[in-house]
Amino acid sequence: MIPLKSPPPNRGAASLLALLLLLACAAQSWADTAPLNAGKRHYVIWKMDDVKGLSPGFQRLADWLAEHKMKASFGVICNSLEANKPAYADWLKKQAIENGGLIEFWNHGYDHQKNVVENGKTCDAEFKGTSQAFQTKHLADSNALWKAKTGLVFQTFGAPYNTSDAETEKALEKHPELKIWLYGPPTATRLLVLRRSLNLECATGTVSYETFMQAYQKQPQGDCLVLQGHPGKWDDASFDAFQRIAGVLAADKWEFVTPREYRALMNPGK
Ligand SMILES: [Zn+2]
Repeated sequence: MIPLKSPPPNRGAASLLALLLLLACAAQSWADTAPLNAGKRHYVIWKMDDVKGLSPGFQRLADWLAEHKMKASFGVICNSLEANKPAYADWLKKQAIENGGLIEFWNHGYDHQKNVVENGKTCDAEFKGTSQAFQTKHLADSNALWKAKTGLVFQTFGAPYNTSDAETEKALEKHPELKIWLYGPPTATRLLVLRRSLNLECATGTVSYETFMQAYQKQPQGDCLVLQGHPGKWDDASFDAFQRIAGVLAADKWEFVTPREYRALMNPGK
């Protein structure tokens, strides 16, 4: 450091000092504006829940993603595929990452029901409190309907309401094609569990730029942010907040990948 009250240096030394000060300032301001994740790859996975048909909210988001060449993942409530809706199936196929699109669709349960009645007993939800046989069938029916309507295979699962129990992992074991579990329990062994960290939405279906930024700037960031949203419920203000947040993340050099891409990056060769 340069003492404040040092005697005036000679002319040559003054120029050198000025140059050093300039370099120091430049280095400092560069450090201030350097990307958050400089030197290390970090990933964002958009976990967008509740596709259940052609919806203006999801279509607007898919169009925006295409415009910005940004990848995302969308969870499908699979009984939405029961009825014959060719336009819906065509849209899913067109967006799918397997077909050159930007979106990985994932299994978000068959009916997304709460207070499920099984054999006369009321259970918490589709994947909580129900039997292993019930959960296995719901996974199987979802996977089969998805395959029948799109020709594609889910690799990722996320339980409705992110709620599951010990039977869910056993049911998932019967579906080895499912390899990634969004917001699953940390105890799961075979599947890659991607946990929740930051919240994109301040309440279900509402995105606030200010609330997100407060948490984003405060929290130490991990290697992978899995950010959940419900674009089918977003109003214009939430969609606008999403765009601003995506812009900040892109500027901070987060890479936008889908769950299966992230798994491949973490397990090369598998
Ligand atoms: Zn859901």
